[in-house]
Amino acid sequence: MELTGKTAIITGAGRGIGKVIAQKLAQLGANIVINDIPSSEDADKTAAQINKDGGKAIVIKGDVRSSEDVQALVDGTKETFGSIDILVNNAGITRDTLMMKMSEKDWDDVLDINLKGAFNCIKAVTRIMMKQRSGSILNVASVVGVMGNAGQANYSASKAGLIGLTKSAAKELAPRGITCNAIAPGFIQSDMTEKLSENVKELYMSNIPLKRFGTPEDVGNVVAFLVSENANYITGQVLHIDGGLVM
Ligand code: NAP
Repeated sequence: MELTGKTAIITGAGRGIGKVIAQKLAQLGANIVINDIPSSEDADKTAAQINKDGGKAIVIKGDVRSSEDVQALVDGTKETFGSIDILVNNAGITRDTLMMKMSEKDWDDVLDINLKGAFNCIKAVTRIMMKQRSGSILNVASVVGVMGNAGQANYSASKAGLIGLTKSAAKELAPRGITCNAIAPGFIQSDMTEKLSENVKELYMSNIPLKRFGTPEDVGNVVAFLVSENANYITGQVLHIDGGLVM
Protein backbone atom coordinates (compact mmCIF):
# COMPACT_ATOMS: atom_id res chain seq x y z
CA MET A 1 0.00 0.00 0.00
CA GLU A 2 1.28 3.39 -0.96
CA LEU A 3 -0.18 6.78 0.02
CA THR A 4 2.65 9.06 -1.07
CA GLY A 5 1.36 12.42 -2.25
CA LYS A 6 -2.07 11.88 -0.66
CA THR A 7 -3.40 14.14 2.08
CA ALA A 8 -5.46 12.69 4.93
CA ILE A 9 -7.56 14.41 7.59
CA ILE A 10 -8.14 12.28 10.69
CA THR A 11 -10.55 13.67 13.28
CA GLY A 12 -10.03 13.01 16.99
CA ALA A 13 -6.48 11.89 16.20
CA GLY A 14 -4.71 13.18 19.31
CA ARG A 15 -4.91 9.84 21.03
CA GLY A 16 -6.36 6.33 20.89
CA ILE A 17 -7.37 4.71 17.63
CA GLY A 18 -7.22 7.98 15.67
CA LYS A 19 -3.60 8.53 16.67
CA VAL A 20 -2.61 5.06 15.45
CA ILE A 21 -4.51 5.55 12.18
CA ALA A 22 -2.64 8.84 11.66
CA GLN A 23 0.72 7.16 12.35
CA LYS A 24 -0.07 4.29 10.00
CA LEU A 25 -1.15 6.55 7.11
CA ALA A 26 1.95 8.71 7.69
CA GLN A 27 4.18 5.61 7.48
CA LEU A 28 2.61 4.90 4.09
CA GLY A 29 3.59 8.38 2.90
CA ALA A 30 0.42 10.47 3.35
CA ASN A 31 0.49 14.09 4.52
CA ILE A 32 -1.41 14.05 7.77
CA VAL A 33 -3.78 16.60 9.29
CA ILE A 34 -4.44 15.85 12.94
CA ASN A 35 -7.73 17.25 14.22
CA ASP A 36 -8.81 17.17 17.84
CA ILE A 37 -10.77 19.33 20.25
CA PRO A 38 -9.39 22.88 20.71
CA SER A 39 -7.98 22.17 24.21
CA SER A 40 -6.15 18.98 23.16
CA GLU A 41 -2.44 18.84 23.95
CA ASP A 42 -2.27 15.26 22.67
CA ALA A 43 -2.82 16.48 19.09
CA ASP A 44 0.44 18.49 19.17
CA LYS A 45 2.34 15.55 20.67
CA THR A 46 1.02 13.14 18.04
CA ALA A 47 1.96 15.45 15.17
CA ALA A 48 5.42 16.06 16.69
CA GLN A 49 5.97 12.31 16.96
CA ILE A 50 4.96 11.71 13.33
CA ASN A 51 7.29 14.49 12.13
CA LYS A 52 10.13 13.11 14.29
CA ASP A 53 9.59 9.67 12.73
CA GLY A 54 10.05 11.14 9.24
CA GLY A 55 6.40 11.76 8.33
CA LYS A 56 4.65 15.03 7.55
CA ALA A 57 1.88 16.14 9.94
CA ILE A 58 0.18 19.38 10.92
CA VAL A 59 -2.44 20.07 13.58
CA ILE A 60 -5.71 21.88 12.94
CA LYS A 61 -7.81 21.79 16.09
CA GLY A 62 -11.55 22.25 16.09
CA ASP A 63 -14.76 20.75 17.38
CA VAL A 64 -16.35 18.52 14.72
CA ARG A 65 -19.78 19.58 16.00
CA SER A 66 -19.15 23.07 14.66
CA SER A 67 -19.53 23.55 10.91
CA GLU A 68 -17.35 26.70 11.17
CA ASP A 69 -14.53 24.74 12.86
CA VAL A 70 -14.83 22.00 10.25
CA GLN A 71 -14.71 24.51 7.38
CA ALA A 72 -11.54 25.98 8.91
CA LEU A 73 -10.10 22.44 9.11
CA VAL A 74 -10.80 21.82 5.44
CA ASP A 75 -9.62 25.28 4.30
CA GLY A 76 -6.41 24.96 6.34
CA THR A 77 -5.71 21.52 4.88
CA LYS A 78 -6.26 22.68 1.30
CA GLU A 79 -4.08 25.75 1.88
CA THR A 80 -1.19 23.69 3.31
CA PHE A 81 -1.25 20.59 1.14
CA GLY A 82 -3.30 21.59 -1.94
CA SER A 83 -5.68 18.61 -1.92
CA ILE A 84 -7.78 16.42 0.38
CA ASP A 85 -7.73 12.78 -0.65
CA ILE A 86 -8.71 10.95 2.53
CA LEU A 87 -11.09 11.79 5.37
CA VAL A 88 -11.25 9.54 8.42
CA ASN A 89 -14.19 10.42 10.67
CA ASN A 90 -12.81 8.97 13.89
CA ALA A 91 -13.79 11.51 16.59
CA GLY A 92 -16.26 9.92 18.98
CA ILE A 93 -17.39 9.85 22.59
CA THR A 94 -19.46 7.66 24.89
CA ARG A 95 -21.87 8.77 27.64
CA ASP A 96 -23.07 5.35 28.79
CA THR A 97 -26.06 4.83 31.04
CA LEU A 98 -29.43 3.13 30.95
CA MET A 99 -32.05 4.97 28.91
CA MET A 100 -34.23 5.72 31.91
CA LYS A 101 -31.32 7.63 33.44
CA MET A 102 -29.95 9.16 30.24
CA SER A 103 -30.09 12.95 30.17
CA GLU A 104 -31.04 14.86 27.06
CA LYS A 105 -27.51 16.31 27.11
CA ASP A 106 -25.95 12.82 27.12
CA TRP A 107 -28.06 11.97 24.09
CA ASP A 108 -27.34 15.24 22.23
CA ASP A 109 -23.59 15.28 22.92
CA VAL A 110 -23.08 11.75 21.60
CA LEU A 111 -25.26 12.23 18.52
CA ASP A 112 -23.74 15.65 17.79
CA ILE A 113 -20.12 14.50 17.93
CA ASN A 114 -20.40 10.98 16.55
CA LEU A 115 -22.97 11.56 13.81
CA LYS A 116 -23.39 15.26 13.05
CA GLY A 117 -19.62 15.70 13.30
CA ALA A 118 -19.12 13.14 10.54
CA PHE A 119 -21.83 14.79 8.42
CA ASN A 120 -20.13 18.20 8.85
CA CYS A 121 -16.79 16.78 7.74
CA ILE A 122 -18.18 14.85 4.76
CA LYS A 123 -20.13 17.90 3.60
CA ALA A 124 -17.06 20.14 3.87
CA VAL A 125 -14.67 17.85 1.93
CA THR A 126 -17.21 16.87 -0.71
CA ARG A 127 -16.81 19.94 -2.95
CA ILE A 128 -13.03 19.49 -3.08
CA MET A 129 -13.17 15.73 -3.66
CA MET A 130 -15.88 16.15 -6.34
CA LYS A 131 -13.69 18.63 -8.23
CA GLN A 132 -10.76 16.22 -7.98
CA ARG A 133 -13.05 13.37 -9.06
CA SER A 134 -11.43 11.19 -6.42
CA GLY A 135 -11.37 10.72 -2.67
CA SER A 136 -11.83 8.21 0.06
CA ILE A 137 -14.01 8.68 3.14
CA LEU A 138 -13.84 6.26 6.06
CA ASN A 139 -16.25 6.45 8.99
CA VAL A 140 -15.39 4.79 12.30
CA ALA A 141 -18.65 3.17 13.41
CA SER A 142 -18.89 0.28 15.91
CA VAL A 143 -20.30 -3.21 16.24
CA VAL A 144 -22.90 -1.80 18.63
CA GLY A 145 -24.30 0.23 15.71
CA VAL A 146 -25.19 -3.15 14.21
CA MET A 147 -26.12 -5.23 17.26
CA GLY A 148 -27.18 -2.58 19.85
CA ASN A 149 -26.03 -2.57 23.46
CA ALA A 150 -27.79 -2.08 26.79
CA GLY A 151 -26.56 1.13 28.40
CA GLN A 152 -25.43 2.59 25.06
CA ALA A 153 -28.67 3.70 23.37
CA ASN A 154 -27.17 7.08 22.42
CA TYR A 155 -23.85 5.61 21.21
CA SER A 156 -25.46 2.69 19.34
CA ALA A 157 -27.94 5.04 17.64
CA SER A 158 -25.11 7.37 16.60
CA LYS A 159 -23.11 4.50 15.11
CA ALA A 160 -26.14 2.98 13.37
CA GLY A 161 -26.80 6.47 11.97
CA LEU A 162 -23.21 6.64 10.80
CA ILE A 163 -23.69 3.40 8.88
CA GLY A 164 -26.78 4.87 7.13
CA LEU A 165 -24.80 8.05 6.41
CA THR A 166 -21.97 5.95 4.96
CA LYS A 167 -24.26 4.12 2.54
CA SER A 168 -26.03 7.31 1.44
CA ALA A 169 -22.74 9.17 0.92
CA ALA A 170 -21.39 6.17 -1.02
CA LYS A 171 -24.35 6.33 -3.40
CA GLU A 172 -24.25 10.13 -3.77
CA LEU A 173 -20.52 10.39 -4.33
CA ALA A 174 -19.79 7.28 -6.41
CA PRO A 175 -20.48 9.03 -9.75
CA ARG A 176 -17.53 11.34 -8.95
CA GLY A 177 -15.13 8.51 -8.10
CA ILE A 178 -15.34 9.02 -4.34
CA THR A 179 -15.66 6.00 -2.06
CA CYS A 180 -17.23 6.00 1.40
CA ASN A 181 -16.96 3.03 3.74
CA ALA A 182 -17.30 2.34 7.45
CA ILE A 183 -15.48 0.11 9.86
CA ALA A 184 -17.20 -1.45 12.85
CA PRO A 185 -14.60 -2.18 15.50
CA GLY A 186 -15.53 -4.45 18.38
CA PHE A 187 -13.70 -4.22 21.69
CA ILE A 188 -10.46 -2.32 21.00
CA GLN A 189 -8.01 -1.60 23.82
CA SER A 190 -8.09 2.18 24.35
CA ASP A 191 -8.98 4.84 26.96
CA MET A 192 -12.62 4.45 25.84
CA THR A 193 -12.77 0.74 26.75
CA GLU A 194 -10.45 1.09 29.76
CA LYS A 195 -13.39 2.78 31.55
CA LEU A 196 -15.52 -0.41 31.36
CA SER A 197 -15.87 -2.66 34.40
CA GLU A 198 -14.07 -6.03 34.61
CA ASN A 199 -17.47 -7.77 34.40
CA VAL A 200 -18.32 -6.10 31.11
CA LYS A 201 -14.83 -6.89 29.75
CA GLU A 202 -15.20 -10.55 30.71
CA LEU A 203 -18.62 -10.70 29.07
CA TYR A 204 -17.20 -9.27 25.83
CA MET A 205 -14.25 -11.67 25.90
CA SER A 206 -16.51 -14.70 26.33
CA ASN A 207 -18.25 -13.75 23.05
CA ILE A 208 -15.12 -13.10 20.96
CA PRO A 209 -14.20 -16.22 18.93
CA LEU A 210 -10.56 -15.08 18.47
CA LYS A 211 -10.31 -14.77 22.29
CA ARG A 212 -8.46 -11.49 22.45
CA PHE A 213 -9.34 -7.81 22.46
CA GLY A 214 -8.38 -5.81 19.38
CA THR A 215 -5.58 -3.26 19.29
CA PRO A 216 -5.58 0.17 17.65
CA GLU A 217 -3.01 -1.33 15.22
CA ASP A 218 -5.59 -3.95 14.12
CA VAL A 219 -7.85 -1.03 13.21
CA GLY A 220 -5.10 1.09 11.61
CA ASN A 221 -4.10 -1.73 9.26
CA VAL A 222 -7.64 -2.14 7.93
CA VAL A 223 -8.16 1.62 7.54
CA ALA A 224 -4.90 1.87 5.59
CA PHE A 225 -6.22 -0.71 3.12
CA LEU A 226 -9.68 0.83 2.80
CA VAL A 227 -8.37 4.34 2.03
CA SER A 228 -5.71 3.07 -0.39
CA GLU A 229 -6.12 2.60 -4.14
CA ASN A 230 -6.15 -1.17 -3.54
CA ALA A 231 -9.70 -0.69 -2.24
CA ASN A 232 -11.03 1.69 -4.88
CA TYR A 233 -13.74 -0.79 -6.06
CA ILE A 234 -15.16 -1.04 -2.52
CA THR A 235 -17.81 1.46 -1.44
CA GLY A 236 -20.79 1.58 0.92
CA GLN A 237 -19.43 -1.31 2.98
CA VAL A 238 -19.17 -1.85 6.72
CA LEU A 239 -16.15 -3.93 7.64
CA HIS A 240 -16.15 -5.49 11.09
CA ILE A 241 -12.86 -5.55 13.02
CA ASP A 242 -14.02 -7.50 16.03
CA GLY A 243 -12.37 -10.93 16.29
CA GLY A 244 -15.57 -12.51 15.03
CA LEU A 245 -17.87 -10.99 17.69
CA VAL A 246 -20.55 -10.22 15.09
CA MET A 247 -20.97 -12.55 12.12
P1 NAP B 1 -10.71 7.92 22.58
O1 NAP B 1 -9.42 7.34 23.03
O2 NAP B 1 -11.66 8.49 23.57
O3 NAP B 1 -10.38 9.04 21.47
C1 NAP B 1 -11.39 9.83 20.88
C2 NAP B 1 -10.76 11.07 20.33
O4 NAP B 1 -11.79 11.91 19.79
C3 NAP B 1 -10.04 11.89 21.40
O5 NAP B 1 -8.81 12.35 20.91
C4 NAP B 1 -11.02 13.02 21.66
O6 NAP B 1 -10.43 14.21 22.11
C5 NAP B 1 -11.58 13.25 20.25
N1 NAP B 1 -12.79 14.04 20.27
C6 NAP B 1 -13.83 13.96 21.16
N2 NAP B 1 -14.76 14.89 20.87
C7 NAP B 1 -14.31 15.56 19.78
C8 NAP B 1 -14.84 16.65 19.01
N3 NAP B 1 -16.01 17.22 19.32
N4 NAP B 1 -14.11 17.13 17.98
C9 NAP B 1 -12.91 16.57 17.66
N5 NAP B 1 -12.37 15.55 18.34
C10 NAP B 1 -13.07 15.05 19.40
O7 NAP B 1 -11.54 6.85 21.75
P2 NAP B 1 -11.07 5.64 20.82
O8 NAP B 1 -11.32 4.39 21.56
O9 NAP B 1 -9.74 5.91 20.24
O10 NAP B 1 -12.21 5.71 19.69
C11 NAP B 1 -12.00 6.31 18.42
C12 NAP B 1 -13.21 5.98 17.57
O11 NAP B 1 -13.39 4.57 17.50
C13 NAP B 1 -14.52 6.54 18.12
O12 NAP B 1 -15.36 6.98 17.08
C14 NAP B 1 -15.15 5.34 18.80
O13 NAP B 1 -16.55 5.45 18.88
C15 NAP B 1 -14.73 4.24 17.86
N6 NAP B 1 -14.74 2.90 18.44
C16 NAP B 1 -13.95 2.58 19.49
C17 NAP B 1 -13.99 1.28 20.01
C18 NAP B 1 -13.13 0.85 21.15
O14 NAP B 1 -13.27 -0.31 21.58
N7 NAP B 1 -12.24 1.68 21.67
C19 NAP B 1 -14.86 0.36 19.46
C20 NAP B 1 -15.66 0.71 18.40
C21 NAP B 1 -15.59 1.99 17.89
P3 NAP B 1 -9.98 14.41 23.66
O15 NAP B 1 -8.96 13.39 23.96
O16 NAP B 1 -9.34 15.70 23.64
O17 NAP B 1 -11.23 14.23 24.44
